[in-house]
Amino acid sequence: MSRLLEVAGVAVSPHHYIGGQRVPSPERFDLSSPIDQQSLGSIAEGLAEHVDSAIVAAQRAFPGWSKLTAAERKTYLDRFAAEIGKRADDFCRLESTDAGVLLSRMRHGVVPRAMLNITYFAEHALTLQERAIDTDQAHHIVRHDPAGVAVIITPWNSPLMLTTWKLGPALAAGNTAIVKPPEWAPLTCSLLADCADAAELPPGVLNIVQGSGAGTGAKLVGDPRIARISFTGSVPTARLIAQAAGANLVPCSLELGGKSPFIVLDDADLDGAATTAALMYRNAGQVCLAGTRLLVHENVLETFVAIMGGYVEKLRIGDPRDEATEIGPIIHQRQVERVKGFVDRAVAGGAKVLWGGGLHKFGKQYFQPTLITNVRQNDEIVQNEVFGPVLTLQTFASDDEAVLLANGTDYGLGGVCYGETAHATAVAERVETGFIWVNSFGIRDLAAPFGGIKRSGIGREGGDWSFEFFSNVKDVVVPKKPFRASFSHR
Ligand code: NAD
Repeated sequence: MSRLLEVAGVAVSPHHYIGGQRVPSPERFDLSSPIDQQSLGSIAEGLAEHVDSAIVAAQRAFPGWSKLTAAERKTYLDRFAAEIGKRADDFCRLESTDAGVLLSRMRHGVVPRAMLNITYFAEHALTLQERAIDTDQAHHIVRHDPAGVAVIITPWNSPLMLTTWKLGPALAAGNTAIVKPPEWAPLTCSLLADCADAAELPPGVLNIVQGSGAGTGAKLVGDPRIARISFTGSVPTARLIAQAAGANLVPCSLELGGKSPFIVLDDADLDGAATTAALMYRNAGQVCLAGTRLLVHENVLETFVAIMGGYVEKLRIGDPRDEATEIGPIIHQRQVERVKGFVDRAVAGGAKVLWGGGLHKFGKQYFQPTLITNVRQNDEIVQNEVFGPVLTLQTFASDDEAVLLANGTDYGLGGVCYGETAHATAVAERVETGFIWVNSFGIRDLAAPFGGIKRSGIGREGGDWSFEFFSNVKDVVVPKKPFRASFSHR
């Protein structure tokens, strides 16, 4: 078996993790860092045989894992989270180098959150009780039984956070899991396997098969032996996954892209709104729930733009490993070209660039925070997700107009609404999304539902909703009076 990769001073396995073993592949794919395009080596590509053996391993582990009590599973999962904590520094350096996520965000946000993603759901599983429904006829015992093998597929913009967000509830609910990490940033998922090993999770409870979406991912989601698919990613991929899930009638949860409105009403705290708006450039705009369409009341437009411009000017763009950096690189050269294409086509169509608009001098994969105005509601840049540091600006004259613009895309993930609290809340309630923040942004509680409507997804995860998805709900019906079969009986 070939050696470990050495990335950012961290030794990480390039192999799959199947049935508690590292498994190499005759085919590998290359990785490079978004920071400076340096090669990070190559890792195993998942072939049909790897997908098959991961499913077999997960199926074998299922009876033992699913029969444990929630408290027994919690012991394993708490140990797993503690192992993630022990390697916090490694996770930070690795994901910063591999995915370009800010080191400071990894340290203060992502790693603690990844641990909580595991411990919260392990704890929450203890509180799940059989529900009793009593009627005149019968006593119903409603159970949440583990579903089987769960396939988890995640994107590159925050691999550790997004993977553990699904893995925590899947395992706590008694399923076994196969993770297919994003091919542009798979390394922190490989480190997760080391943590599972150190925590002595039973072999096959967690399996990791690396590889491309069209190859490895498609094989996994198309296999009839799996019981659940939990996917985070783009709309075109979700359509393919939903087709594969539909063919086998496998339930799937789809957390997809967004084009969320950021509404600034005329009674908003403009300074507060402007600092939050500048935050939309975080992670180089590669954030599904960012409010990327600024909708600003015409009475406050000039002041708002001036304040926001001041904050944007001060944003520190650079190497994500530098703790002072506020905006890092875009994940891949192809994504840079995609972002640039959106801006160039908008400008060719008559849009104006208020700031930014092109590559940043720091390097080939760094894009300037950009604000585009003079756009129409049907323009591509207003309708489609850019997934880069590019916001659009439109104005409105009334609440009704703000709501009309906010709801005028096919997406419905999130939103932000700034204004006097009662006013902003009333407007927020009319916006068609899965969630919306009033005078705030990014408050995420694991107990709350998360997910989108329209093209932004199907299903909700978080709290009880995750357990609804990762369980088979079963009604055990016990009649209250002696039962004798009869053809007239309904
Ligand atoms: P993507 O859809 O291209 O890929 C996501 C994952 O799906 C990757 O692991 C990829 O390998 C895999 N995949 C691709 N084709 C597949 C197939 N046919 N079968 C199975 N798996 C396949 O998305 P991306 O470009 O990696 O990520 C960006 C997208 O993710 C954006 O649209 C963003 O909004 C979305 N996103 C959504 C959320 C959310 O919670 N709603 C969070 C983060 C990112």
